[in-house]
Amino acid sequence: MGGIADAFVEPVDEHQVSAVLRLLELTGTPHCIIGETSNLLFDSEGLRGVVIRIGSRLSGIEISNREVIVKAGNSVPELARVVGAHGLTGLEHTVGIPGTIGGLVLMNGGSKRKGIGSNVVWVRYVDRNGDIAVVSHQECEFAYRSSSLQLMGGAVVAVRLRLESGDPDRITTEMDEIVASRRSRFPEDQPNCGSTFLSDPAMYATVGPPGKVIEEAGLKGTRIGGAEVSLKHANFINNVGGARSGDVLALLGLVRQTVLARTGFAMDAEARYVAPDARITPAHVEADRRTASADASVNQGQ
Ligand SMILES: Cc1cc2nc3c(=O)[nH]c(=O)nc-3n(C[C@H](O)[C@H](O)[C@H](O)COP(=O)(O)OP(=O)(O)OC[C@H]3O[C@@H](n4cnc5c(N)ncnc54)[C@H](O)[C@@H]3O)c2cc1C
Repeated sequence: MGGIADAFVEPVDEHQVSAVLRLLELTGTPHCIIGETSNLLFDSEGLRGVVIRIGSRLSGIEISNREVIVKAGNSVPELARVVGAHGLTGLEHTVGIPGTIGGLVLMNGGSKRKGIGSNVVWVRYVDRNGDIAVVSHQECEFAYRSSSLQLMGGAVVAVRLRLESGDPDRITTEMDEIVASRRSRFPEDQPNCGSTFLSDPAMYATVGPPGKVIEEAGLKGTRIGGAEVSLKHANFINNVGGARSGDVLALLGLVRQTVLARTGFAMDAEARYVAPDARITPAHVEADRRTASADASVNQGQ
């Protein structure tokens, strides 16, 4: 679905991250930072710049009593399993979430109404000029699926987490149950960006979560090009074959407008769109921009 980037870099330590960011900033080269791309929709036109991947080459876990320092590229399910086996509880809700700990912290991701932010003590961070700093829990300003890190434009390279002691067998059983429950509810066998829309508390209390509301609007199975509202869980948009990024954005816009007209709630996207100039924005922002520019051209033609 996503096109090709001009260049791809995969640093192995924070010094390489720092050197790359400094160079790209000095030369004014467009760039973006990715983990496992599980929350991202790349434009089919590709990316005129550099993609920096903080992934498995920058990973590792150090456990000391009830605190854990984890490098940003570490896989989240692996982290949850490793700390659980050490008798540390608190990350069970993350065991089924694809992606890296860096991406999870930036998104304050989680499940079961939890977010990883509540376990974060500090984040080791390389800013857009290549300077390395420690960002405290408070400075991260964690809120529902957001953090101040999203606006800072640098890279998370490591995270310190505080957990509680627990029984490894109980933790393993709970994680196995979570994984089985997610498999039965989520379309994990088809490409998608995870939950398309955020669950807004006011909307949840009035009409329910996005999946239920989208289903009640009769949108399950709706297709544009190769993009389809999942038949298994309506808050997922799957690539069912040859979808272009424009198909996904058009379908996301259609769902957003239909739900707005029915309920009065404008659902914001959790999925993030990566533009050809390497800017990353919530996908509904790009969907709305395209609808507005299509409306403007129709009006000009009249
Ligand atoms: C089937 C499926 C189920 C999912 N279920 C959940 C769920 O239950 N809960 C949930 O919260 N999410 C869920 N997601 C979304 C996604 O898995 C999470 O947002 C995940 O934490 C993203 O991690 P990533 O490494 O893939 O990040 P990416 O998708 O690569 O990037 C996400 C954002 O983080 C930034 N980023 C990534 N790494 C870094 C870094 N090291 N430093 C700075 N910025 C960085 C990127 O620039 C981007 O803005 C799901 C996705 C899928 C496909």
